[in-house]
Formats: sequence, structure tokens, C-alpha cells
Amino acid sequence: MTGKNQLLDYLQKTPQDQLNAGTIAFLANLEKVKEVSPSIGESIVKELLDQRSHLKLIASENFASLSVQGAMGNLLTDKYAEGYPYNRFYAGCENVDKIEDEAANLAKELFGAEHAYVQPHSGADANVVAFLAILAAKVQKPMLDDMGDDINKLTREQFNKIRQAYGNQRLMALDLYSGGHLTHGYRLNVSAIMFDVHSYHVEKDTMLLDLDKLHKQAKEVKPLILLAGYSAYSRHINFAKMREIADDVGAVLMVDMAHFAGLVAGGTFKGDYNPVPFAHVVTTTTHKTLRGPRGGLILCKNEFKEFMEKGCPQFLGGPLPHVMAAKAIAFREALSDDFKTYTNNIIKNAQALAAAFMEKGAKVVTGGTDNHLLLVDVAATYGLTGRQGESALRAGGVTLNRNSLPFDTNGPWYTSGLRMGTPAITTLGMGTTEMLEIADIVHNILKNTKPTTTASGAKSRAKFETTPAVATESKERVKALLAKFPLYPEIEV
Ligand code: PLP
Repeated sequence: MTGKNQLLDYLQKTPQDQLNAGTIAFLANLEKVKEVSPSIGESIVKELLDQRSHLKLIASENFASLSVQGAMGNLLTDKYAEGYPYNRFYAGCENVDKIEDEAANLAKELFGAEHAYVQPHSGADANVVAFLAILAAKVQKPMLDDMGDDINKLTREQFNKIRQAYGNQRLMALDLYSGGHLTHGYRLNVSAIMFDVHSYHVEKDTMLLDLDKLHKQAKEVKPLILLAGYSAYSRHINFAKMREIADDVGAVLMVDMAHFAGLVAGGTFKGDYNPVPFAHVVTTTTHKTLRGPRGGLILCKNEFKEFMEKGCPQFLGGPLPHVMAAKAIAFREALSDDFKTYTNNIIKNAQALAAAFMEKGAKVVTGGTDNHLLLVDVAATYGLTGRQGESALRAGGVTLNRNSLPFDTNGPWYTSGLRMGTPAITTLGMGTTEMLEIADIVHNILKNTKPTTTASGAKSRAKFETTPAVATESKERVKALLAKFPLYPEIEV
């Protein structure tokens, strides 16, 4: 970085035919931010430099294109547009109508869905909107039909009956410690207040889901919603079979494909592994494998459409027009052939990474992966907690996150596992050869990291020591690797 105004510096020093829009847009944006807050401007640049200098193995993150980022960072944020396209509670929504319509139509095309709702601000919001829409369709509507169909005219007693019925519905979902998400009924999450939650679990010996067992449990529980989907499960789920189970017990099948939406969009997860044809409702984030802006999306069968469109007033306030615009850009990008190649490569890379770890003797949960992520048991392999592994790797130039493993004895804070994912490094253009180098770097750091022994002789679960030369060498290797796959090469800072 040079000079006070980097944009002017850049414009002055760069020949006209070499100027690039990415750098100009980034620097112009930065100058405006710095006019108000130099420290925020500095954090943005530092974040770019951080992401450029560390290997990103966080399974839930990616690098959105500059077009996605550009669509997000503009005046669209100023507009209120409660309601849905062409039915708004605010004036002047003509442009937002077009944006939301385009995003929803592209989502339908991309996933082959009957209906798409692009307003949820995040994956967690999408799940609450979906829960409420299912409750409205399956619990409230029949009651309203009985009581007279205008909710505003109900007596307090009638309304309370509906409230009680809402609170007594059952949700069956994957347990957090088996790889489910917080919003799937974790006790501290609102989903556990909304529903009587019955979790299902992976099997202790295989760490896999047993759908026959799940079916048996569903017959006993008789849930209103059978929820499939995960944050930390590395194997295929057969959604055709899941739908059969849901139908057999009269449940609504909801799938949260936040992690693997990109793999569905790219056609890599197809047939029984594509949830869209089978699930009544599918929720997702748009920023993980799908590589869009931070946000949420709901796809559903037409029978749920009118209930889904009521995300506002049910739960959401005004939509985020700038984010909906960026979703439209991301969906269009995901419709390309390049994106198909990208999602195939994500899986090839994850499988190559898992194989490379196993080759080195590391314990990979379930013995591999079918998707973009893998879980390494660092307690069994290296005698470390996930927390120690995460911190040691970060010091060696690798960013990833610790994760509880099924039946983890180290608890959710320290954990025994590391979750690794390939969406971001595949975006950079890395392939299976690079996975060998990455596995070697990670293994080398973990192998040379030891828990600190406390005064009483016990092993610390947080403190650790890595052989200093190994940390230094790793950083050099990460630097050399990333130099071949630059992040946002368009941006020169
Ligand atoms: N659902 C699943 C399966 C997730 O993994 C996540 C995030 O990690 C979410 C929902 C929540 O998404 P967000 O962080 O956008 O609220």
C-alpha cells in the first residue's frame, strides 16, 4: 500500500490499457469507507491480506466473485420493500421487484424448484421462516378453517389454542453432535423452544446414519417435520428414501442443504442425492458451496408457496435488496458450465485430501467423504484437542475450524476433531496435486504439536507447543502454494 489515496496512486501509475475495474472498484470503495473510518478501511484491507496469506480450509466459507460483492455494496441497501414482488407495503419498489423476481426465477431454474423465496437474510433465518410456514400450512390453516378464516378476528381464547398447537409439534432432526446444525433443535436455539425436538444420531460403530433405524424412530415419534441436512457429516444422504420415510409417518420433509447447495446446483449431487425433487421444503445458505453473498434461500413445493411468501410478517422484516441482487448474480454464475466443473472438483479435492490424510495414518471420520468436507480425529491421531489443532494450524498459515465429533468426550469447546473443506481452495483453482501438499503441511504441523503439560502433570486442552521451525517452514510452504493461486488477482493493493 502506498500514498494517502491509493485509488489516485493506482490511476496515476497504471497505463490506461492496463487499468482494471476490480482494482478501481475496490480502491474507490475503500476510499469512501476511509473518509468516515480509516480503521474500518484498514480492517478490510487486512482481511484481504489475511485471506491471501492463509490457506482457507473452512468448510462453510468460500470466495464470492467481485460481481457478487459489487451487487451487494451499493445504494440498494437504502430501500425498504416489505411484502413480495409486485405486492409491497412500500412505494417505489419497482426496481426491487425486478431484482427479487429475477433472483427467485434464477433460483427456480438453477435447482428445478417449484417455488423460490430469496428474502431470508441467512441460513438460520431461512430455517425459522420455513418452520413457521410449515406450521402455518399444517397446523394453523386447518384450525383457522374450523374457527373462521381470519386470524385477526379470532377471540383471545381461539388464538391461544393455535399458539398451544404450534408449541406442541414434533421436529425430528440430526443431533448437533452427529453433525446437525444449531437451528435443528439444539437446546439453546429457538427451534428447541418452537418444537418438541427428537434428535436422530449417527451410529457409534460406523459414524453413519442408518436410515432403517431412523425410519423406526420416525414411526414412534411421528414428527410434523422430518429435517435432513448437516453442518458436519461427510456422507451422502438418500433423499428419496428420506421422503419415503416422511410419507410413511405423515411428516413434512424439510432439507437444510446449506452446506451442499452448490453441489446440487452444479449437478454433482444428483438423483437420490438431490433433495429438491423429494423434499417439500428445502432451505439453504447462499454463501458456502453456492459461492454467493451471505444470505438464505428457501425452495418449496407450490403447496407451501403462499405460506413461505409470508416470511414477512411472520418473522423477517424488510428484505435486503442489495443481497437479493447479489444472489441473482451468484445464481447466474452457478448456471454456467464452469460452475459444474467447479463443484465436481470440490469433491475430487475433498476425497484426495481425505485419502492423503489416511495414507499418513490419520483417522478420518467414516473413512473418507462424499462431499466437500472431512472430519479428522486429531485426538486419536495426534493426541491433541481440536482447539489445539486449530490454533497450531492457524499459526502455521492454515485457517480451519475445530468441530465436535460424534460421541466426543472433549466437549463442544475443546473438541476432538477438525473440520476441513475444499470449496474455497477449489475456487482458487487448486486440484488434487495441491491436496497432497496441503495434507502434508497440515500433518506436519499437527505431528509436531504437543499439548502443554500443566503444573500438576496433566495435559492442557488449550495450550500447546509446536516445534518453531515447523511453524516457520509451514508458513513458507503455504506462501509458496498460495502464490500460484492468487486470491482476487484483479485487486492490486
Ligand atoms: N444450516 C446449516 C446446515 C448450516 O451449516 C448453517 C451455518 O453454518 C446454517 C444453517 C446457518 O446459516 P447462517 O450462518 O447463514 O445463519
